[in-house]
Formats: sequence, C-alpha cells, structure tokens
Amino acid sequence: MPLPETMPAAVFKQKGEMAVEDRPVPSLGAGDVLIEVSHCGICGSDIHFVLDGWGHPDTIGGHEQTGTIVAVGTDAGGWSVGDPVVVGPSPKCGECRYCKARRPSLCMGRGDVGGGDYQGAFAGYQRVPAASLFALPDGVTLRTAALAEPLAVARHGITNSGITAGQRALVLGAGPIGLLTIAGLRAMGVDDITVTEPGERRRQRALDVGAARGLVPSDLTEPPMPYDVHDDGYAVSFECSGRADAQEMALAQLQRAGTLVLVGAGIKKPQWDANRILLNELVVTGANCYDFDGFDKALALLARPDFPVDLLIEPEDVPLGGILDAMHGLKEGRLPGKVMVVPS
Ligand SMILES: [Zn+2]
Ligand SMILES: [Zn+2]
Repeated sequence: MPLPETMPAAVFKQKGEMAVEDRPVPSLGAGDVLIEVSHCGICGSDIHFVLDGWGHPDTIGGHEQTGTIVAVGTDAGGWSVGDPVVVGPSPKCGECRYCKARRPSLCMGRGDVGGGDYQGAFAGYQRVPAASLFALPDGVTLRTAALAEPLAVARHGITNSGITAGQRALVLGAGPIGLLTIAGLRAMGVDDITVTEPGERRRQRALDVGAARGLVPSDLTEPPMPYDVHDDGYAVSFECSGRADAQEMALAQLQRAGTLVLVGAGIKKPQWDANRILLNELVVTGANCYDFDGFDKALALLARPDFPVDLLIEPEDVPLGGILDAMHGLKEGRLPGKVMVVPS
C-alpha cells in the first residue's frame, strides 16, 4: 500500500495553543524506519512545553510512543514492515565516560531537552532510528507498551535512590510518574509507601495502585531544628510533582542518611537548609531519563500479569485534537493516570 504524502500532526503554536495541521510524511535515512504511530502518552514535559510555553513554536511533541513499521531504510537492522515496535531512547555516543559507565542518560553527546529538530509522535507517522526500537513482549499490546517510556523514567528514579525491599518510601505527587513509581516500588517489594497528593482522585488512585497511606501536603511538617529528623522518617523521598514547596518538604521527611530523588521538573527553585543535609548526611540526587537497560526492564514489568496497567492508563484515549484538553485535565489533576493519544 503506497504511503500518503501528508499526515495530520498536533503542532505547538504558542503558550497554551496547539493546532492540528497537515505535515509531510518524513523521508527515511538508511538507518531509519517509518512507523505509523499507534499510541503516544502525554508526558509532563509535553505539558510544560505547551501550557507553560517552554516549547519552540511549530514543533511536534510526543515521545512515549509505539507503532507499526510501514517503511524501512536500506540499513534498518532486522526490522520489517508490519512489525509492532516500542520506540526507545535515541542512540547515544557510546564513547564518552558516562556511556562507558553504563549511564547513557548523562551522555556528553545527548541533545538538549526539547530542542533540536525532533519530530514527535503526536502525528500520524514518525521517522525513528532503527537502533532505538524494541519488540513487544508476548501478550503486551501496543497501548500498554506505550507505558514503557514513563515506566523507565520512574524505574530510573528508583534505581538512583538505592532503595531496597523493606525500606520506607515517600512519594510526593500522584500524577502519572508518581503512580508509576508506586507501582515500580511495589513490584520490587517496597510495601511501606506513603503518598502525598492534594487532589482527592489522584490520592485515591495512588492507594489503589499500592500506596499504604495517603496524605495531603499540609500534613507534612519540617522538624524545627536542622539536626532533628522525624521519628518515622523515610529512607527515600521521590519528588514527582516538580513543585519547589514539595521539593523542600521532601528533604525534611528523610531519616538520617536518607535520599531525596528529584523526578519531577519545575521552574521555581527550592530553598534547602544546607545544615539539614550536612548534619544528617542526606543525599540529594536527580533522575533524568532511564537506566541503561531501562526499556528492557520496563517492558518485562508491563508483561507481568500483576502489574496494574488499567490503573495507570486513563480509560479514554484522545485524538490529536484532544491533546490540549487532556493536558489541562492532567495539570489540574482531574486525570490521575497516563493519557494515551491515538493519532489516527
Ligand atoms: Zn516522558
Ligand atoms: Zn556518550
């Protein structure tokens, strides 16, 4: 079947504004494949690009996608037309000290966040490097597999935290990444999980996914003196909201030698008490993208029958023209789980 010359795409115009426009179907390089996009999740970063205006005008977002191969370049490995695939990380340099240390998310040659000429998957078709593709595990649908990217993000936060089964965890923010973090923690035997979330629906969803208790942010307090810690402090705080006040409070909930992992991104800068970090030997770290084997591990988790996929993906998928509405719903917390975009 011949491919069309144009495709619909959801294009970022300016802060708070998107339009569905016809764009040329991308042409292929030797090492590329063309996929017809099946599902693409809406990421918190997509919301920042559009609703907060971080994006470049006339770009197409979306990076949590699955699809079916409809054309292959002359050097596209073993992939064939008709293969269902998950799109994983863009290939990194493989040469720098971070790549050699199996930390590709820190590659010296990685692109800028949201920059470059990336054409995302909020479109009918997408050109992707064949080297970035993963096959679907048995029994995992294209829709479920589109959770692989955000699950790999959540798992990278868990890896960087160093948490082990039996330790106590605090998760701040129960949006899609907070929920995936809770599900990922439960899958590795961390059962004592507290979640803080102002939105009632999201808090309830977090309990359904596997948190042991749900709090609202105002339930958290900072011990009066920097050398004090709460008696029931946490081994790890996962800050998934990107809010400065939550980042500050996340640090104050740690037990001695505890670890704060920053998973959510925001613009406003937190103010931390350096003495609290010093006197209690706290660790503050971030989580950017994925473990070196993040997609393999995420796909293996998604294939587990006990993994709560139905609680993690919202039941209603949206077309390209519905992305903006869904972004508002996600930002306001009306939609707790991941929203999947279906471009065609
Ligand atoms: Zn994402
Ligand atoms: Zn590198």
